[in-house]
Amino acid sequence: LELLDESIPEPRRTQNRATEEHPTANVPQPFENTPDTDPALPANRAWGRDILSRVEASVLGVAGVAQTTLTSEAELDAVLADARQNAPAWAGLGGAARAVILNRAADRLAERRADLLEVMASETGKTLDQADPEVSEAIDFARFYAELAPELDHVDGATFVPAGLTVVSPPWNFPVAIPAGSTLAALAAGSSVVIKPAPQAARCGAVLVEALWQAGVPREVLKLVNVDEQQLGRQLIADPRVDRVILTGAFETAELFRSFRPDLPLLAETSGKNAIIVTPSADFDLAVKDVVSSAFGHAGQKCSAASLVILVGSAASSERFNNQLVDAVRALKVGYPADPTTQMGPIIEPAGGKLLDALTTLQPGEHWAVEPKQLDESGRLWSAGLRTGVARGSQFHLTEYFGPVLGIMTAATIEEAIAIQNEVDYGLTAGLHSLDPEELRLWLDTVQAGNLYVNRGTTGAIVRRQPFGGWKKSAVGAGTKAGGPNYLVGLGAWLPAETTD
Ligand code: GLU
Repeated sequence: LELLDESIPEPRRTQNRATEEHPTANVPQPFENTPDTDPALPANRAWGRDILSRVEASVLGVAGVAQTTLTSEAELDAVLADARQNAPAWAGLGGAARAVILNRAADRLAERRADLLEVMASETGKTLDQADPEVSEAIDFARFYAELAPELDHVDGATFVPAGLTVVSPPWNFPVAIPAGSTLAALAAGSSVVIKPAPQAARCGAVLVEALWQAGVPREVLKLVNVDEQQLGRQLIADPRVDRVILTGAFETAELFRSFRPDLPLLAETSGKNAIIVTPSADFDLAVKDVVSSAFGHAGQKCSAASLVILVGSAASSERFNNQLVDAVRALKVGYPADPTTQMGPIIEPAGGKLLDALTTLQPGEHWAVEPKQLDESGRLWSAGLRTGVARGSQFHLTEYFGPVLGIMTAATIEEAIAIQNEVDYGLTAGLHSLDPEELRLWLDTVQAGNLYVNRGTTGAIVRRQPFGGWKKSAVGAGTKAGGPNYLVGLGAWLPAETTD
């Protein structure tokens, strides 16, 4: 294996972020989370404007698909053969040696922050404030999994056997952090990786993989493919040389993958329909801020997004809470990311299907507190919507929409609110805004979701601090959480030490 690839050009250097004046090459030990870019520093605002000057004024998305060279059937076959063949050599390096390369990957990703932000904004319409934490998260995944990898080498009485060849199938909504997290975890755990970026975010995937190659992940061990999902999706997933698939996407996609190959070892983080409960004891100002950022960050296109707020008892009739929420939703400035004043960017594709319904159609008993408006011809730019009167058991209560529309529900008691929260099929994130310890205890004991957030928004899990993953229909074949201490051990098998001697 060739462990350093000098053939890739140096990243285009913009001005450095102010926080990167301190070299990142000295790996922080023990693990520390990487700071996001601080926009309060004038140098960073200039840095951001420089990036945005290269982002088109109105976006694109389709561009990624159009510019991608698709992998042919024969090429895919060769890629799988090669990645499978090289898996043992990568595994044989051992966790400690792989960790060195992962730490270099962290440095590379830090150096390429500007490139990654530019491609995320251009390709998927992410605003810089949404894209920047993704790069931090990707760096965190690299450093955190680097810290965990050597532990796989030293376990008394058992030997860790890496899965082998892992296919990574990430979504477009976190086009850097999620593919980085899945890929780096599999690499840290000694598997080779074939990554197939989401077609809407193919360029993001390409820049990410290039950075990892440049850091010393061998090209024989990390492969990038862009396949036409209709034509070659099944071949990629069903190929018997594939030992594991890590998917982040819709629950239906996980089912589709399983239908391709029923015995597929699949680790999938799937859909969510997440709610934040606000009780009368809550700090309403904080609740409004967290509800709005959770519902409308990246135009609501996060599995972790809050799509419902459930107001308990007198919170439901609180004019202060309701007026503030309406004002905050109305005031969101919607636009394209090239405009630095944009707070909420476009959706990934022209609204259609169930999302278009959710943006345009009310169900019996519902009203618009803020009606969403289509803002231009593209069909991608919508102002934020707030619907009231969402009924228990209604379509809006139970369906994931993945867009900029939030529903308000009410409950007489916290018990009822929790029942409403638990009635959905999914269980990814859940929020509670309350300053009452009794309410908090009850909620923590009974709510059914993977990530529980108290007096905080439901998005933006931080590596190590908030390992991320769901239950119910939000997870398939999982059990361990991304960015958590046990994630790597699930990516292989454990054999009694003597059987492998
Ligand atoms: N990890 C992300 C967060 O905490 C969500 C990932 C997703 O949307 O799949 O917001």
